Amino acid sequence: MRLPEIKGFLESSFIDWPGRLTASIWLAGCNLRCPFCHNRDLVLSPETLPNWPLKEVLRRLRKNRLFVESVCISGGEPTIHPGLADLLEIFKNEGLAVKLDTNGTQPQVLRELILKGLVDFVAMDVKAPLESRLYRRITGKNIDISKIKESISIILETGVEHLFRMTVVPGFHSPEVVFAWVQDLQGAQRLTLQNFSPHRCLDKTLESLRPFDEKEFSALCALVEENHLITSESERARSSTIATSFT
Ligand code: SF4
Repeated sequence: MRLPEIKGFLESSFIDWPGRLTASIWLAGCNLRCPFCHNRDLVLSPETLPNWPLKEVLRRLRKNRLFVESVCISGGEPTIHPGLADLLEIFKNEGLAVKLDTNGTQPQVLRELILKGLVDFVAMDVKAPLESRLYRRITGKNIDISKIKESISIILETGVEHLFRMTVVPGFHSPEVVFAWVQDLQGAQRLTLQNFSPHRCLDKTLESLRPFDEKEFSALCALVEENHLITSESERARSSTIATSFT
């Protein structure tokens, strides 16, 4: 199977996996067109970006192996690549824990990766409450909302370590929308909000949009914190309903 091309590599990061120092890898392309996406080149014109040779990535991972024990696979959308499982297997064979960032549109791929033990942690973007019209508006695509629901169920039922996150965009993510999102994700281990960043958006008109200010964003995070019910399975992560800025 042809391995996915690696378009970005960061040797170590503290922000990708809560509590872990992690290397990060970005793969090309995405099946969604979220107007607020800040990975414009990676999504729209990945062929203009240079490739990282896998050999060089592995050399650096081995060099850092004493203090970097995990790798985050991000995009774009990693699950659109047929060779993703083979790539993850290479990292697992290096003894690395693997985190997968996904938009949840390919539940069959997600299930296979989890059941094969190729993924230790899933961070899924759930971009809006689970309703087709809202999802179409925020992703720019007419996607099948049942696929998103299926991915959420797979994550919850397999018990893989996980978080669900949402980038909140002024004009779209009102307190009511955020409240409905939390209701759709009850029982999750962690829920995270990211504030919209107006830099290099897919939709250039959004680059003049002001993100939520600190007070507004804190209020949305508090709404999540107050309404997120935890099951016993996810109790251990109770203190980790976290808020981040979009980087
Ligand atoms: S923000 Fe949307 S368009 Fe951008 S990579 Fe993620 S899912 Fe794809």
